[in-house]
Amino acid sequence: MPELPEVETIVRGLKEKLPGQKIRQVKVNLDKVLRENKEEFASLLTGLVFQGVSRRGKMIIFDLSEDWSLVVHLKMTGQIIYTRPEAPVNKHTHLVFDLAKGNQLRYADLRQFGYLILLKTDQVTGLPQLAGLGPDALEISSQEFGKLIASRKGAIKPLLLNQSFLAGLGNIYSDEVLHLAQIHPLQPAGSLTSAQIERLYKAIRQVLTRAIKLKGSSVSNYVDSDGERGSFQELHQVYGREGKPCFQCGQPVKRLKLSSRSTCFCPSCQKLKALDRQE
Ligand SMILES: [Zn+2]
Repeated sequence: MPELPEVETIVRGLKEKLPGQKIRQVKVNLDKVLRENKEEFASLLTGLVFQGVSRRGKMIIFDLSEDWSLVVHLKMTGQIIYTRPEAPVNKHTHLVFDLAKGNQLRYADLRQFGYLILLKTDQVTGLPQLAGLGPDALEISSQEFGKLIASRKGAIKPLLLNQSFLAGLGNIYSDEVLHLAQIHPLQPAGSLTSAQIERLYKAIRQVLTRAIKLKGSSVSNYVDSDGERGSFQELHQVYGREGKPCFQCGQPVKRLKLSSRSTCFCPSCQKLKALDRQE
């Protein structure tokens, strides 16, 4: 699923194109992705102008004229593509915004877990899906991060996936971050030494920043707002590499199941530290 780097890549692409563009018409092919019925959604949006695009965790927020906002979660397979109207239409396209200058903004979602919420701009921060998010993984300070981690008891991997703890990381980047920080995914968060917390914080910033530079990881159907694939998947150290040699030490990458999610790690680079041992 698109995680912070993929969503950030989409947002950066749309920021260059959308502001100032007026919505001429909205076609809804599947209203399951909406809260409103499709006629209401289309009529509310028609005539509004895109003013800004931003990201919170893995969510995208479009600010529109007349104090409306559109909050989008792409979930597993959602895509937002800005394109010419004559470009071939993906068969899972559920929404098409015709823009006044002639281009289209299309929302497609193969598995249909994604959703769009249209609401007044002053209600955005109170939206439970946003209000429940923890600090953004790219914005949190190292002090705040240290405090948050030290107060938690569970294993570090599921904690990094928990959006109310830290917003933005999913399965790919939490595996990559833990490998770079040389921390075992089952290490209890509260048992991490201050040196490990510092390494983890730096690894989060480093992995996310590099991934954004390479326009994200295209491991399933992820593409950016131009329909282009990212290339960070070529630099994955552990994610999706079970049984293959670790690039750092040559030992095979292992996989374990943690709260029904697959976790890939290198048992040699990421040793589980005994709880009473000081680093
Ligand atoms: Zn290794």
